[in-house]
Order: sequence, then C-alpha cells, then structure tokens
Amino acid sequence: MIDTHVHLYDQAFDPDRDQVVQRAKEAGVSRCILPAISMSSFKAQADCLERYPEFCYKAMGLHPTSVDGNYRKELDFAYENIQNAVAIGEVGLDAYWSDEYMKQQVIVFEEQILWARDLDLPLIIHSRSSFPELLNSLKKCRFPGMRGVLHAWSGSVEVFREANRYGYFLMGIGGVITFHNARLADVVKNTDLSSLVLETDAPWLSPVPFRGKRNESSYLSYIAEKISLIKGLSLDSIVDQTTQNALSLFFNTK
Ligand SMILES: [Zn+2]
Repeated sequence: MIDTHVHLYDQAFDPDRDQVVQRAKEAGVSRCILPAISMSSFKAQADCLERYPEFCYKAMGLHPTSVDGNYRKELDFAYENIQNAVAIGEVGLDAYWSDEYMKQQVIVFEEQILWARDLDLPLIIHSRSSFPELLNSLKKCRFPGMRGVLHAWSGSVEVFREANRYGYFLMGIGGVITFHNARLADVVKNTDLSSLVLETDAPWLSPVPFRGKRNESSYLSYIAEKISLIKGLSLDSIVDQTTQNALSLFFNTK
C-alpha cells in the first residue's frame, strides 16, 4: 500500500517515529508521500525525508490555511525548495476555518497549479467548504496533463466528476470513511475503484477503532477494509488497485 498523504514529520511522532515507520512497513505500506504545509514545518519534513529514503517521498507547496496577507515569502520559499518533489502539495482552498484570505488563497492556489504545469507534476489538493471556487480555479488554469489527488474528499460525486472534466483527478480516501458517514460511503460506492487512492492524513483523522487518537500509516489497512465492505470487493483487489493508482500518478509506474 501507499500512504498518499501523511505528515510523518509532525511533532506528534517525535517520541517514536522509527517505530511508527517500522509498524507501517510491517502492515504492508511500501511508500509514503509527505505533503508540505509551510516554512515552519519545512525542516522537520526535510529531516524526515532524509531519514527514510525510498520510503518517504516529498510533496512541496503552501497549504491554504497557511495563506495570509504575506503569502509571497512563503510561496517563494516553497518554490525554491521544490527539487525532488513527486507532487505539488498540499495546495488548495479552505473556507472552513476562515474565508478571510480567500482572495489570496485563490491567487496562491492558481500560481501553484502553474508550477504543476511547468514541472509536469501531479497536485495534492485540499478543498474544504470551497467547491465552487475549486472548480473555478481548475477550469481557469487547466492544461493538458493536469492531474492529481483531491485529498480527504468531502464533496459530492458530481463535483468530483466536474473536476475530472478539467484534469485527471483521483479521490483520496482516509479515516473518515470508517466513521458513520453514509454520504461519503455513497460517494465511494459510486466512484470507480480506478479513481481511488488511500491516505491517512496522520497524525490526524484516525480510522475507527482508533478515532480520536493519533493516526499513523499502519492504519491504512482499516481504510482499505472499509472500502472493500462498501464496494463488495475483496480486500486484495482494493489494495492492488489503489496501489497501482498511486504508483501511476506519483511515480509514473504502471
Ligand atoms: Zn494534510
């Protein structure tokens, strides 16, 4: 399995990061993608990438909740440190916590879509309470080869399909699918397995039975199991297909 979204560099893992990585490997996780947030977490991310080569892979970008009136310095920093990234992320729009800087969030998101175009990289997109704005930016900035993951997807099948009119996007499914969430279960049921990838978003959003506790990549199997129940397909087929999906998006491997 590939954990397509984990903040392994978060200080929540400082006491036992080596063991967390060990448990993930034992649980069948072969690779992890570590999305960036902002300058303040860059060093921890870089240290983590260096400590676990061939296991941790880098995404670089400026997270929408870290965008304020002074985004330029943050954005330039992210671009200067983009070497060896397998994706641009995490980037996007978030009006859930605050829409105070939505105008700036849009500018920052659209500039980073252009990085994806220029560097021919996939995007890891965070979109919360901002679906009209998301579709608007994708439509406006679309280019041939635009691709990525709509991470921690909380929208409808219709919005997901519309995003796919502008580019090639997979749906990131995490621990939320194990909560009593009929709506997301329905979205997963109605989305082809070829469009799904697994993610934990650890240390946040632990799946049941660990809900409320620290999340980690070894719990990815609980997410795969829930998808297998919802879709009525074997666990093996869920693991195989989502791994293939992640490999071809991030590592150009079929
Ligand atoms: Zn994240």
